[in-house]
Amino acid sequence: MSTKATVEKLVSLCKRRGLVFQSSEIYGGIGGFWDYGPLGVELKNNIKQAWWKAVVQERDDVVGQDAAIVMNPTVWKASGHLDTFADPMVDCKECKKRFRADDLTGAVPAGAHGHEAAAKVIRCPECGGELTEPRMFNLMFRTYVGPVENDASTAYLRPETAQGIFVNFANVLTATRKKLPLGIAQIGKAFRNEITPGNFIFRDREFEQMEIEYFVKPGTDEEWHKHWVEERYNWYLGLGLRKENVRVRRLDPEEQAHYAKDTYEVEYLFPMGWSELEGIANRTDFDLRRHAEFSGRELEYFDEESGEHIVPYVIEPSAGVDRLFMAFLVDAYDEEEVRGPSAGSGRGETRVILRLHKDLAPIKVAVLPLSRHEKLVPPAREVWAMVRKHWMSQYDDAQSIGRRYRRQDEVGTPLCVTIDFDTLEDKAVTIRERDSMEQVRVPIAGLVEALRERLEARG
Ligand code: ATP
Repeated sequence: MSTKATVEKLVSLCKRRGLVFQSSEIYGGIGGFWDYGPLGVELKNNIKQAWWKAVVQERDDVVGQDAAIVMNPTVWKASGHLDTFADPMVDCKECKKRFRADDLTGAVPAGAHGHEAAAKVIRCPECGGELTEPRMFNLMFRTYVGPVENDASTAYLRPETAQGIFVNFANVLTATRKKLPLGIAQIGKAFRNEITPGNFIFRDREFEQMEIEYFVKPGTDEEWHKHWVEERYNWYLGLGLRKENVRVRRLDPEEQAHYAKDTYEVEYLFPMGWSELEGIANRTDFDLRRHAEFSGRELEYFDEESGEHIVPYVIEPSAGVDRLFMAFLVDAYDEEEVRGPSAGSGRGETRVILRLHKDLAPIKVAVLPLSRHEKLVPPAREVWAMVRKHWMSQYDDAQSIGRRYRRQDEVGTPLCVTIDFDTLEDKAVTIRERDSMEQVRVPIAGLVEALRERLEARG
């Protein structure tokens, strides 16, 4: 974690610069829901694209899909969500605050769940008041399909994208004619009626997941599990998260979901402490067997080598886009003392800077005419027209050049291109780099190439 990032600073930066807004803010908001603004949607898309590229595009053993959010409700019976996807909830009789009983750390030993956990909670952690008996609260949002609201029309907003993959396993296998191991990847919204949403976008009621169900032959599952833990850990480092802020933790048996044989978490050191970014579970053949049982369909794979029908095991790397969004911001956030012309001022001043990986930066290039002088506007507009065919870019001519550099640093723009009066003579512009603040002069004719070199260099 950047030592300088706090949740308050991030929330303020995100609102001010159009990354994240409270949902329906003009009506007082609604707990656990957030909107992504013009720059936020870019960062979010870039995270999703980076993930898709790494797990689908660059591999020969993973394909994508996009399933519906509302599914046949039997899916949730088969998956166990209707019966077990619940948290123990307690209310304070005095201050009326509501808590997840298993969240009340200090009062509850790690690994204690449900009634067992709640029973150990004696008093309200806020006011010391007496707590109610715990009630199990199902986290799925309910809705109705069609005009009649009754039990038969009840449906659910999916609490995870995974089940949309399991129910399509046979379809994808047949359509792609792929052999095991085969992964199916999906990005999409998930909904959980969390009892205590919070920590900005860390725990939401509506969020996005990026999940892979990687189907393997039983017996090879442990090896593939290791593979995916390494792959996923390295992906985070490759996108710039600092090593000291990311760790992999193997869950204790009592922390595991009931279907899991073994689970690892990739955790990040958020301002509120180490917390889960992604879970990587060995789900065994639990889901396919349950869906086969409830649907009456055969969800098997014919293994040509052994001549047998098998039910594959599944390794599931499951990450939350919103949590990653927050982690990348926390890690990138920095404040530094700067001076000199590239900083925009001779005086020392503090600049806020998001040192985002260039693949994630919402805006790649900012085009900045030195001033609004009538002679500078046409070449600056021409440069912008050229640049925006290739990258997300912004044109900014308001206020001093120093202020504009500041604004771009604050949202992590890796490169600024400045058009000045010399441009009119030498047909060249200045590229200014975010982190080093170094400036180089390049001819406009070679600008796209020069930007490409800087933005698309690997390593
Ligand atoms: P937690 O223990 O934090 O509630 P979980 O173990 O229930 O999370 P999973 O069911 O494993 O989470 O979901 C996979 C991923 O989806 C998580 O690692 C997280 O990144 C994301 N996720 C889950 N719940 C939420 C939420 N309420 N808000 C934002 N992201 C979430």
